[in-house]
Amino acid sequence: MTKHNAIEMALSDQIVQLARTAGHLWGKGWAERNGGNISVDVTEEMSWVAYSRSRDLFHEQEIPHENLAGRAFLVTGAGTRMRDVAEMPARNCCVLRISEDLDGYYLLWNGDRQDLQPTSELASHLAIHALLRREQRPERALLHTHPNELIALTHMPGPAKAEMLVDLLYAMHPELKLILPRGVGYAPYRPPGSAELAEVTLSALSEHRVAIWEKHGCVAVGKGPAEAFDLIDAVNKSAVILLLCKAAGYAPEGLSAEQLEELGRPRGHRPT
Ligand SMILES: [Zn+2]
Repeated sequence: MTKHNAIEMALSDQIVQLARTAGHLWGKGWAERNGGNISVDVTEEMSWVAYSRSRDLFHEQEIPHENLAGRAFLVTGAGTRMRDVAEMPARNCCVLRISEDLDGYYLLWNGDRQDLQPTSELASHLAIHALLRREQRPERALLHTHPNELIALTHMPGPAKAEMLVDLLYAMHPELKLILPRGVGYAPYRPPGSAELAEVTLSALSEHRVAIWEKHGCVAVGKGPAEAFDLIDAVNKSAVILLLCKAAGYAPEGLSAEQLEELGRPRGHRPT
């Protein structure tokens, strides 16, 4: 068995789930051009795969996260389109392993494309994975995408937008509170790819599983890419309902404070 085949076998479930999720992002119209990126911590799946420490595979990059030493990640490739990831994951995804010395990573697998590099947002993804491991959280996947209706709502003018927007979203559908009982994070606008954006995202995700990026999109963490997608889909659903009501010419009534409070109380049966 070649090294590449061993990696593909070890990660087959994760690769399939990532590809299906990429297809959903494209299908939803959330992934124009090369918009969005996905990463999954696959350290466990890769634990039995012997890997090369050849300098040919090594890419120098300071990794300022001690708890990521030796960890492995499946990530979408730089500049790749989600519709291509969905159809040909082996040509559009990479697997890398962080060096023990945190001075870079070994690019172990990039399908049959030797030129393919990990997403340009790798540093931000690693910072979030380091947070998840530090807090011993169950999430291992990180997804960034551009949900149209949610972005539209972040353009809403006026002060105190973050709090008001999240309250509005929760008032649009009762199951949002059941899916995300601790709320949704809100990261104020920062330039794409900047250290400042990574910083506000880390802050939002330290309390939440989803962070809305003002005037840009959304990130979510989940046990796998499918779960991260589900969370964003649920949040965007509320945004769609709100905009549909507005388009129909009325302000939605929304769930009352009492109805929302009632959802937070323990009960024997949860609607699905
Ligand atoms: Zn983006």
